[in-house]
Amino acid sequence: MIDAGLDVARLNFSHGDHDAQRKRLKLLREVAADCGRFVGVIGDLQGPKIRVKRFENSKVTLSKGDHFFLDSSLGDNAGNKDGVSVAYDDLHKDVAEGDVLLLNDGQITLRIDSIEGTRVHTSVVIGGVLSDHKGVNRQGGGLSAPALTGKDRDDIRFAAESGMDFIAVSFVRSAADVEEARSLSEAAGGNGKVIAKIERVEALDRINEIIDVADVVMVARGDLGVEMGYAELTGMQKRIIRLTRHKNKVAITATQMMESMINNPIPTRAEVSDVANAVMDGTDAVMLSAETAIGEYPVAVVTAMSDVCKGAEKHLLATGRTTHRLDDRFEEVDEAIAMAVMYTANHLNVKAIIALTESGSTTLWMSRIRSDIPIYAFTPHDATSRRVTLYRGVYPVSFQIKHTDPRRLYRDMFSTLLSNELVDEGDLVIFTKGDLSGVSGSTNSMKIISVNSSI
Ligand code: PEP
Repeated sequence: MIDAGLDVARLNFSHGDHDAQRKRLKLLREVAADCGRFVGVIGDLQGPKIRVKRFENSKVTLSKGDHFFLDSSLGDNAGNKDGVSVAYDDLHKDVAEGDVLLLNDGQITLRIDSIEGTRVHTSVVIGGVLSDHKGVNRQGGGLSAPALTGKDRDDIRFAAESGMDFIAVSFVRSAADVEEARSLSEAAGGNGKVIAKIERVEALDRINEIIDVADVVMVARGDLGVEMGYAELTGMQKRIIRLTRHKNKVAITATQMMESMINNPIPTRAEVSDVANAVMDGTDAVMLSAETAIGEYPVAVVTAMSDVCKGAEKHLLATGRTTHRLDDRFEEVDEAIAMAVMYTANHLNVKAIIALTESGSTTLWMSRIRSDIPIYAFTPHDATSRRVTLYRGVYPVSFQIKHTDPRRLYRDMFSTLLSNELVDEGDLVIFTKGDLSGVSGSTNSMKIISVNSSI
């Protein structure tokens, strides 16, 4: 999968204990090193997904018109065709008569008839098979479980201690959820970037404040689509991606992107369009879930997705270059340099942009401006290399600054570029650096130079 185009891997804390995650992480790091590639790793928190508990016979079949109750006081394994327990003590307080509950990712619809103590009585509107541990959502949102559970706090510590590059916070409601995850991670010595998963209707009302405090935003279309309904999901995806990029943050688009490839070797045309449209919307990353976790064609689906991304990017050029931020005032020197680079690169025949970078922040600024020119993050730090794998159009290159004399520094840079076949002799490139190497955020110069190995 790495050879086929996988840049970032998600370890889902909903599946497997810390031992299992540790083994997966070790395997990933080893295989990435064997492939000569950097792969970012996301630790994705389970969050307070509300689920039914267990049935006496592991499942029941519900038919239209049946009466069925949810009751958090019922025994954990006592579910039957009349009702089942639910792993959320406040369910009866958060819902009202007439509300619609969606179970099993929206496959089953229940309408609430009445509430009696902890027991929520419903009628089945759309039936189906309901088995142990399936999820429960309220149409329109409003189930108020806090975003971080005790398990999530343990998992954040584990992710920080094992050096995961990103922490994804599930079912974010507000900026405070994101900030709390970040401070728990930092307290455990982590420097992972924080991803806010937008999958609750409540998060949409506070989308600006959430994006402001997150590093990365995920359009988590699975749960979001169930809560808000699918009709407006595509418009919402476009809005979230646009806002995220506008605030200079990174966007991921997720869920059911090539779902049919769980069992089929090629995608449907609708899936091809979905992936291509996310790329054209400006997403930094497209994410696979079950397709690679349990699917029959994990390599074929990564290949297909990667091909579609490249195909879509070619057509972006036809739509012209962006004027994003052309009239903005900039706050930081490195930000101003990054913007000057992109303006220049998009108006001159430049083949590559090379940023000598500590934290990757200059390349993040650059990658918010649409361009087809590759941005190479030259860095000595593996953590930075793994982080920039999520930034669109940014490619990490391991590079140690051995010389401060410009001629010798250029010689090292050119030889790295040429030996990796990233440019040709004579190509024009832009490179950025700070006077103080080793200091994050110190980029203060750009140079336009011609690749010359005999300098
Ligand atoms: C989603 O709901 O779209 C999502 C990405 O969340 P998860 O796969 O973790 O349930």
